[in-house]
Formats: sequence, C-alpha cells, structure tokens
Amino acid sequence: MTASDGGDTLKAVLTLKDQRQIEAVLMRYERRNTVCISTQVGCAMNCAFCATGQGGYGRHLKVNEMEEQYFWAGRELKKQNPSAKITNVVLMGMGEPLANYDNSLGFIRSLMGKFSLGARSITLSTVGIVPGIAKLASESLQINLAVSLHAPNDTLRTQIVPINARYNIASLVKVLKQYRQSSNRRITFEYALINDLNDQDEHMSQLAEIAQELKAHVNLIPLNPTPKYDYPGSPLDRVNRCRVLLQNQGVTVTVRDTRGSDIAAACGQLVVSNVNTPKKRGKVALI
Ligand code: SF4
Repeated sequence: MTASDGGDTLKAVLTLKDQRQIEAVLMRYERRNTVCISTQVGCAMNCAFCATGQGGYGRHLKVNEMEEQYFWAGRELKKQNPSAKITNVVLMGMGEPLANYDNSLGFIRSLMGKFSLGARSITLSTVGIVPGIAKLASESLQINLAVSLHAPNDTLRTQIVPINARYNIASLVKVLKQYRQSSNRRITFEYALINDLNDQDEHMSQLAEIAQELKAHVNLIPLNPTPKYDYPGSPLDRVNRCRVLLQNQGVTVTVRDTRGSDIAAACGQLVVSNVNTPKKRGKVALI
C-alpha cells in the first residue's frame, strides 16, 4: 500500500485468488471519504493516455471482488478514525464498468442494499458504451454518470478514445439525453487536458456546445503522466483559460485536483504488472 497527500490518499494493490492484481484508491476529504473501485483486471478500451489501457485486459471482476475493495477502504478508514465511514463510491478505477455490466450493477445494488449507500453517492464512469448506457437508463437508478469525453469532435476523440469509432459523439449525446431523463441526474463530462492536442480555444467552443445540449457539467483534468504516452498535460495557465472559456459559454466547470498523482493513483494511472500473467502471490492484500 502507498500513501500520499499526507496520508489522505491511499492506494492498495490487491491480489486476487488467481494471482492477478488490481488497484483501489481511498481518498479522504474534509467532509467525505471516497473509494475508487476497479471493475476489471486491466482494460480493453485502449484509451491513448491511460496506463491501465496500456497494460492490456485481463478479465472481469466479480461482485465480491469489487466488495473486497470497499472492505479494504473501510478497514483503512477505521484505522485512522473508528467512526469514519465511506460516503462515496466511484467506479472509476481499472476497467470499463459497462463492459462488465452485470457485475458492476450487482455491486451497485449491493452498495445500495446491504451497505446502505444512497444512489446519489455512487458514480459510474464510462468511456461511452452506448448500449450499456441505454440499459442503465432502463434500470431507473439515480446514480451519477461520468463520461470520459476527452475530445469534442469525432476525429480527435477516435484518436484519444478508440471506442469512439464504434460509438460516436452523436450517438453518445443521444443516449445521454435518455439517461438524464430517466435518472434525473446531471451528466458529468471528464475531459483530460492534453497540451496542444485537445486544449485549444476551438475545442472549448465545441465542448461547450455538447455540454450545453445536455446541460452537463464539465470536469477538466490536467493530464497525469503515464509511461507510454508522449503528450504532456496542459500547463496551468491553459487549464485556467479552458475553464474560463467554458464558463463564459455558460457551462459549469470544475478542475479536478490531481490527488495521488505522485503514487500513480490518479485518473488514468492505475496499473499493475500482472494483468495477464499470474505470478507469485503478492503480499499487500488477498481477496
Ligand atoms: S481511461 Fe478507463 S476506459 Fe480508457 S483505457 Fe483507461 S481504464 Fe479503460
């Protein structure tokens, strides 16, 4: 296990029964404790900047393997403060939750049932699997949906997020309208700012148009470094300019803090060595 932010961010590498490894991250804030859950060993989506995608795909995680990540976070919290509780869960770790639909939904139902967590405290992050979002819309759950957009037009998005070649932005926007209507929850677009690639003024105009159509919130993420991606994140002045440009076009925006980036626990950085090749049993934790 590794810690950063003065112990407020903890990352665990958990070893599964078949010796494959996954990561979970606990982030403590002043008024909430959030755990970031992996839903697959590795990921097949191959997003250009993402360390998990760079490591390849292993297998789906089962409901109990997601629950064990939740238990780990709960135990760590109690060590620091016996009365502390997990307040928020984000399915935003390794893997694409909607590619492992049944297990991800099983876990969400378990959070809402036996762990008594409200739907509004749960966020599922997806790269934009259109049929999965449509199915989720039919579940009538009020969970939050965060969509990894990362580019405002199809040409650029297919380059950064290859699944866009199958589910383009128009089809994504259409299904997100459906989800918004059924859940009554605001959509969040995650947008990693990559220097000189997707952070120019015209990109912000295109992004604002998409966000306005859905009344979506935009979360700008200064890109975190990963080993196999050459592009650096946008510098701070560019990040701020993007924020202001979006706000000037009436879009609500936040800039995500880069919690845990020094221990590779931030967005797009989660990766372990044995995704496909089971090795010796790890020492950190065992599911
Ligand atoms: S960003 Fe998410 S969906 Fe894309 S490769 Fe990484 S883990 Fe998979």
